[in-house]
Amino acid sequence: MGKMIYLDNAATTKTAPEVVEAMLPYFTEFYGNASTVYELGGASKKAMNEARDIIADALGAQSNEIYFTAGGSESDNWALKATADAYRSKGNHIITSKIEHHAILHTCEYLEKNGFEVTYVDVDENGRIKLDQLKKAIRPTTILISVMFANNEIGTLEPIKEIGEIAHENGILFHTDAVQAFGQIPINVDEYHIDMLSASGHKLNGPKGIGFLYIRKGVKIRSFVHGGAQERKRRAGTENIPGIVGLGAAVKRAVTTMQERTSKEIELRDYMIDRVLKEIPFTRLNGDRHLRLPNNANFSFQFIEGESLLIMLDMEGICGSSGSACTSGSLDPSHVLLAIGLPHEIAHGSLRLTLSEEITKEDIDFVIETLKKIVERLRSMSPLYEDFMKKSR
Ligand SMILES: *Cc1c(COP(=O)(O)O)cnc(C)c1O
Repeated sequence: MGKMIYLDNAATTKTAPEVVEAMLPYFTEFYGNASTVYELGGASKKAMNEARDIIADALGAQSNEIYFTAGGSESDNWALKATADAYRSKGNHIITSKIEHHAILHTCEYLEKNGFEVTYVDVDENGRIKLDQLKKAIRPTTILISVMFANNEIGTLEPIKEIGEIAHENGILFHTDAVQAFGQIPINVDEYHIDMLSASGHKLNGPKGIGFLYIRKGVKIRSFVHGGAQERKRRAGTENIPGIVGLGAAVKRAVTTMQERTSKEIELRDYMIDRVLKEIPFTRLNGDRHLRLPNNANFSFQFIEGESLLIMLDMEGICGSSGSACTSGSLDPSHVLLAIGLPHEIAHGSLRLTLSEEITKEDIDFVIETLKKIVERLRSMSPLYEDFMKKSR
């Protein structure tokens, strides 16, 4: 394989070498079960507690409010299903947005089949949730509002503080899927009125298959996995100590490098967005121009199929994504792009490029030059484009 330019960091990230390094001793040296009394088990427990402290510190939370899970999807499932269950006597209504990750949307559909009612609030053309609609959706039976911190496809940051305030003024719990935002945006759970927050290791240069759910003290939430007494009896199973240590190391790294890393990414992101919009005609940026994740750009190129674009970029060593990896392989356009009002044909020609700190300006220049050539070539083969050009002559 020649040089690869990896621009799919919203799908997953490279595990940082120092994270791998921190994990290694917990496979072969300190392999004890954290629930045992002897010293070997104690080493595992100590490492786990340290990771919990690092994560709690990063969020302004208490250590005993952090529960380890197997990742973002599990945390989202847990937050929704277990609060629905615990607060059923109070009400059966949940509010979320139309642009959530499928870990939220499909869980909501499951809950709807089990007697819950869900309101899916609209977003505006930039992907920001409509707060007036959210307020109007509140009923006496509303038990939970779940809105993502930042969207995984178009990068838009949601007005989390305002949503948290609305939830708490109305005595409603507030959960946020912060899988994309955590590690890129400073988050304080008190400032944002967050009761539950989902995050995942592999989206922030940590290992795959480990994540956590923050649950504010006092929130009634049922156990998600029944069995042993791990995670304060709420999530049974022998702890994934290497994963937990890796997650702790990744969070520490993300917090200490955040300022420098994200300002560099924002600069390159904006450079790329400006050039692509200026140099490639019939192109639009999806998501808010400024209220977006530091590393996210999402474009739609008219008259083009996103999948063909991805394949041709791959042949040049460039990894990107059309919409989200979860929907790749299906021909339905992304629910997020439809929710911001894009017609099907434009949604189909979309490309998400998500940066990391390893990406350089030279990489971006190469990507832009390559994109220009590929878009031109694909358009030259497109009957739609030919028609359009004939008509506009
Ligand atoms: C990736 C992602 C998830 C799922 O996390 P996993 O750890 O892969 O299960 C959930 N929500 C958002 C917003 C994501 O980007």
